[in-house]
Amino acid sequence: MTYPTLCSVCNGMESVSASCPSCQGSALDQGKLSDYYGPYSPYRSMDDLKLTNGYADMEQQQCVHYGYCPQCDTAFPFAVQEQALGDGLS
Ligand SMILES: [Zn+2]
Ligand SMILES: [Zn+2]
Repeated sequence: MTYPTLCSVCNGMESVSASCPSCQGSALDQGKLSDYYGPYSPYRSMDDLKLTNGYADMEQQQCVHYGYCPQCDTAFPFAVQEQALGDGLS
């Protein structure tokens, strides 16, 4: 069974602060990762992206965003926990 989930960051309800994996500095949220690669990318499948990102369980509850650190010029993916729309109905 699948519950609909919503990324509050993508929907502008929340901002997120990511930490740079290289320098631990505060990085900027650049939006949803799939907006960059696209679901129909001829070069990488979603399975490939998952392996590349190291997020094996991001199918439903996590929205993978693209982060950028201006301190050390590093770009990296990070996961945002999505909110379940059906909360409180069970
Ligand atoms: Zn998102
Ligand atoms: Zn950095």
